[in-house]
Amino acid sequence: MDDMSGVTRDRHYGYGEWIGKFFTIVDTGGYVANTDDLFEEAIKEQVDVALEEATVVLFVVDTFAGLHPLDEEFAHKLRRAKKPIFLVANKADTHERANLSGEFYALGLGDVYPISSQNGSGTGELLDEVVKHFSNDGIENPDEGVPRIAIIGRPNVGKSSFLNVLLGRQRSIVTDIAGTTRDAVDAKYTAFNKEFIITDTAGLRKKARVKEDIEFYSVLRSIRALEASDVCIVIIDAQNGLETQDLNIIGLANRNRKGIVLLVNKWDLIEKDTNTAKKFEDDIRSQLAGMDFIPIIFVSVLNKQRIHKAIETAIDVYESRSKKVTTSALNEALLPEIDRYPPPSLKGKHIKIKYITQLPTHSPTFAFFCNLPQYIKGPYAKFLENKLREHFGFEGVPVNIVFRKK
Ligand code: GDP
Repeated sequence: MDDMSGVTRDRHYGYGEWIGKFFTIVDTGGYVANTDDLFEEAIKEQVDVALEEATVVLFVVDTFAGLHPLDEEFAHKLRRAKKPIFLVANKADTHERANLSGEFYALGLGDVYPISSQNGSGTGELLDEVVKHFSNDGIENPDEGVPRIAIIGRPNVGKSSFLNVLLGRQRSIVTDIAGTTRDAVDAKYTAFNKEFIITDTAGLRKKARVKEDIEFYSVLRSIRALEASDVCIVIIDAQNGLETQDLNIIGLANRNRKGIVLLVNKWDLIEKDTNTAKKFEDDIRSQLAGMDFIPIIFVSVLNKQRIHKAIETAIDVYESRSKKVTTSALNEALLPEIDRYPPPSLKGKHIKIKYITQLPTHSPTFAFFCNLPQYIKGPYAKFLENKLREHFGFEGVPVNIVFRKK
């Protein structure tokens, strides 16, 4: 699990994998009692939203502290949520402590999973059960062949405006408080003679009362839209540049192996000379280190500048993502490159890559068959990725390179 803390002030989310199932995990501020405190009330609302959005809920209690009246209150709420609930008794660091977790059966939420997040005990058993609730390859695509596009970005970067321009009419998606209410659901559109689906999720109906809420809802919403998509159009505001949250969401899209297009919007507000775009792009590229395959397009939604180019690029990225390169084309192009710059020997062992083939996966994965796969290091894999991109494109598409023994 990668920690991606700092996305919102005190919320965390991460991307996990367990026995071949991938998932996003969102941490909430925790359940609090009824209160007059606006901030605590906001945390409570965030828990409600998270509950509504989640596929599976992990309710974490403290074995050390024992059963608390608040646990009962929250258990009552959870039973009404009608979601799979896992009651996780944390801090069960020892066998004795694990035995104590039995008292949580009183909450009536079914099995108790004693774990120790400190030493990891019990977490494997828990995850085995949790991932049974996840489908293998995310959300089913009933419109096979039609690109599913998520429009993602921080509040006020121009997402709604972009969609309005794209679709040539006002939609009711623009809301009084950015990122909090919504009435749009996935829908199929045609623009510039291309068919595509904009992925979005129903459910976030709460109004935000504090800034933390706006951020939290916008992150949750982005994650859901991202997971349901083939390609993410990430929009940033040229005045603010690439912010930490943008990098986190792009990183998440990359790890989910989604196609990615970055739009730098409000370009009309930037004072420009001949070098501005180039400097801006270089600056963003240095922050995107390792994800240099992402196309960057400078747009002004307001002036309808390069909107066509943006959607065309997103559709190209979609097509690249489902492209299959034949084994013979791969070998013809890449074996000579490998001959010119072979993998460095390790511990006196000569490493020989024999052939390359694309695996039949959703997003491009290339297997390099060789004598000693475990000896090939990251930098050489990056070299192969670059050569692969040089010959076959894959702009905007994360490609996965694996080494197999032959
Ligand atoms: P969202 O929260 O990301 O959906 O952002 P909105 O689409 O609601 O836009 C936020 C604000 O930015 C609105 O006042 C828009 O008119 C403005 N805006 C959007 N795109 C542009 C642009 O290209 N240039 C300028 N100057 N303003 C824009």
